[in-house]
Amino acid sequence: MKLTRSVLLSFLMLLAIDANPQEPKSQAPKERPTRMKVVLLGTGTPVRDPDRSGPATAIVVGDSAYLVDFGPGVVRRAEAAVLDRGITQLEPGNLKVAFVTHLHSDHTAGYSDLIFTGWTSGRSTPLEVYGPAGLNSMTEHILQAYRIDIETRTNPEGNQRAIADGWKVNAHEIRPGVIYKDANVTVTAFATKHAMQSYGYRFDTPDRSIESS
Ligand SMILES: [Zn+2]
Repeated sequence: MKLTRSVLLSFLMLLAIDANPQEPKSQAPKERPTRMKVVLLGTGTPVRDPDRSGPATAIVVGDSAYLVDFGPGVVRRAEAAVLDRGITQLEPGNLKVAFVTHLHSDHTAGYSDLIFTGWTSGRSTPLEVYGPAGLNSMTEHILQAYRIDIETRTNPEGNQRAIADGWKVNAHEIRPGVIYKDANVTVTAFATKHAMQSYGYRFDTPDRSIESS
């Protein structure tokens, strides 16, 4: 995983804002309406460190969460953020939009987990995923690999038949520029230099901007 300086700076800024150093120590810290949060779900590398999950960052804005990368462990680290930090936007069933910087395995080995555990955790709509060329093929092959699981869960006796579309994925192969926009964020992709086609993403929200790559 690469964290840009801007991510680190923004993350430190977030910590600084939350810490609110102006506050007299004798008073309870006031709640600040910070609308965007950055949650580092995984900061590992391809090295199999048991204490570092694979690269994955969550941008939380309002009631929604957006992932950048989905390395191994992403879903369980998201659930840990719910249980340990009360960040309910990261309930796996709420993970609906993801951006992948590039297709190296350490950044994508959690893809099938994100698709299928998100579905079995309650996501009823297709997962929206944005990334470089090759994402469509990777997505199609993962779904094909799990064809028997999908068929079993959606047949008339299947345990996911009530949300039979939650396994679906809309994969979007992108080019630089604005690639995503909703009521919370505008996401702009920019090319980065790596061993393969790769992108960073800038999230612009009403209160601040952050880049992750
Ligand atoms: Zn890489």
